[in-house]
Amino acid sequence: MQGLMMDTPLLISSIAKHAEMFHGDREIVSVTMDNPRHRCTVSDVTTRARKLANALDKLGLDQGDRVATIAWNDYRHLEIYYGVSGAGYVCHTINPRLFPEQLVFIINHAEDRWIFTDLMFVPLLEKLLPQIPNVEGFVVMTDEAHMPETALPNAVCYETLIANESSDYTWPDLDERTASALCYTSGTTGDPKGVLYDHRSTVLHAYASVAPDVMNLSSSDCLLPVVPLFHVNAWGIPYSALITGAKLVFPGPKMGDGEALYELIESEEVNLALGVPTVWLGLLQYCEQAGKILNSLDRTVIGGAAVPRAMIEQFKKVHDVRAVQGWGMTEMSPLGTANSPKFGSESMSEDEQLDLATKAGRGIFGCELRIVDDEGTELPWDGVAYGALQVRGPWICSDYYKLEGSAGTHTEDGWFDTGDVATIDPRGYMAITDRTKDVIKSGGEWISSIELENTAMGHPAVAQAAVIGVSHPKWTERPLLIVVKAEGQDIEKEEMLAYFDGKVATWWIPNDVAFVDELPHTATGKVKKIELRKQFADYAFPD
Ligand code: AMP
Repeated sequence: MQGLMMDTPLLISSIAKHAEMFHGDREIVSVTMDNPRHRCTVSDVTTRARKLANALDKLGLDQGDRVATIAWNDYRHLEIYYGVSGAGYVCHTINPRLFPEQLVFIINHAEDRWIFTDLMFVPLLEKLLPQIPNVEGFVVMTDEAHMPETALPNAVCYETLIANESSDYTWPDLDERTASALCYTSGTTGDPKGVLYDHRSTVLHAYASVAPDVMNLSSSDCLLPVVPLFHVNAWGIPYSALITGAKLVFPGPKMGDGEALYELIESEEVNLALGVPTVWLGLLQYCEQAGKILNSLDRTVIGGAAVPRAMIEQFKKVHDVRAVQGWGMTEMSPLGTANSPKFGSESMSEDEQLDLATKAGRGIFGCELRIVDDEGTELPWDGVAYGALQVRGPWICSDYYKLEGSAGTHTEDGWFDTGDVATIDPRGYMAITDRTKDVIKSGGEWISSIELENTAMGHPAVAQAAVIGVSHPKWTERPLLIVVKAEGQDIEKEEMLAYFDGKVATWWIPNDVAFVDELPHTATGKVKKIELRKQFADYAFPD
């Protein structure tokens, strides 16, 4: 027997409608390329998104066509999110930090018809122009006063495009499985792969992310998403913020500027900021050097890479800010876990609580997790056994765009193999120990490069650390620690290695340390291990 409940589709436009009705006056503050502090409201954004939808319809686009953005976090980008997806087109967010050949690949692979670009990326697109001949036109996200001279064909100014459009627009009644957005993963090997989200997956992910033990969002919050709108939908914030009515503060091009972030947080009374560890490193360094305290902030959501214990500790002890670690992937919309304390954690010592906070967190409802060994047999949740981490759920990709099964990332029984290696403890807390390809195998046993990196980062003289496996005549592989020293600090190899004593198993301690000026990073700020392995290809351990 079937239930007797309505079957209303889960649509992104329904978030816009809800937000306008209940949170229309909530403020959205943006740093933009043409305004250091732009202020508007939720209803300004949803009204302009409807004008944009009218303009897009007139461009002669067909349902499902890809409309790309290459832009920072600001209110116009948010309008495009709603205008494009709401009208039934696919919002393809492009990461401007990708290498030019990757940009060309994804624009052509996605068959983008129009590209919305920030002022800053106009010269970049002009250079790519001969290689992206199928793009029909470009919208520069600015007003007439700031519109540049450009060689881009059919270049229109954003404000002019929407200026004379009507704000009357009826969002189409789409099937909830209609594609809504496209984001390419910045894989370290091979061509980038496209993840195609739909309205249903987006709305379900947003519902899950606002829960108390996940992001704990409400209308009283003031959010600063430093995680970019061009990378996995800024962890769903454009949707979850509008569902809850939280105030939004967008940093525009100032994402990597510790001082600018501090000023935004303090002046707008941000209480929750979200971003990858690298961003917080910059903010914390600025605070330390300038003698500043983060007064309004009460928590940060940090993910995208392992969060060093020292960072969680500094947030807590110096700024009284709780760092909530999250884990996920582009393929997962992205949220899979969040690290919130569970009933019973109150009795833990401060040290135990810190240890727990360094884990990636508990699976959130809607995302199943399992760890399996090389034969695909499920491993126990004992916090010790580690294996390939696989996930399943309604906001996990079932395939890549235009790859049809050829990526080989899905198991026969319908799970997605994340490429991460993890443990899960009896209380359900998952900890990432490595990427499958980064695992170090010494004498047949696995060594976690992440744990070694985390430990090294605890030393005050270490700014950045990475560990790679280097071949060894006896043990097959042994860990090599690569360190960027903190500014004005010095440390010798012996002191660095001695620092591991008592913190990790003796046989895990790296065999050597190499000091470098910088580490290679991917476009999303992750250390590019593949590049490091190339750099150290001729390296041999001292006898
Ligand atoms: P992306 O698709 O670019 O967001 O990258 C996803 C990958 O980032 C994951 O598969 C992990 O390897 C890594 N990652 C994300 N969050 C964490 C975390 N909390 N700890 C360790 N690695 C993480």
